[in-house]
Amino acid sequence: MKKILVSACLLGQPVRYDGQGKGLTDPRLARWQAQGRLVSVCPELAGGLPVPRAPAERQEARVVTVQGEDVTAAFACGAQAALQLCQAQGIRLALLKEGSPSCGSQQIYDGTFAGQRVAGEGVTAALLRAHGIQVYAETQLAELALALGES
Ligand code: SF4
Repeated sequence: MKKILVSACLLGQPVRYDGQGKGLTDPRLARWQAQGRLVSVCPELAGGLPVPRAPAERQEARVVTVQGEDVTAAFACGAQAALQLCQAQGIRLALLKEGSPSCGSQQIYDGTFAGQRVAGEGVTAALLRAHGIQVYAETQLAELALALGES
């Protein structure tokens, strides 16, 4: 059975920087969960960051908080933890929260903390893709279903 790595916040876990979740309500996700396919991870928590925490954005190769603290190492550590989870469980598919400096797979914020999105990837999404894992955003459930072999 193909498993899917999922951003913990998409499963409603209150792990975001603001202490909230971003639970996704969709019958496909509910079915995959009932089938035991889903493996949740929050890379930022796995990297040692707390809840709540300061919002952070990518600035080229670095990740910095709105207060200017460099949190690149924690983000890199969390990405490695997500990759190790995939490798340990043979996971080749991921469903990650769009826009996050960790999990974003198509768009991220531009690093100015002005609420502007640009094309780009979060640290975890980029690392997973570099190791051949297919990453999908929550707007791509149809594509993910196809990758699972569902029509
Ligand atoms: Fe959600 Fe990923 Fe941010 Fe954790 S790091 S709160 S899983 S988007």
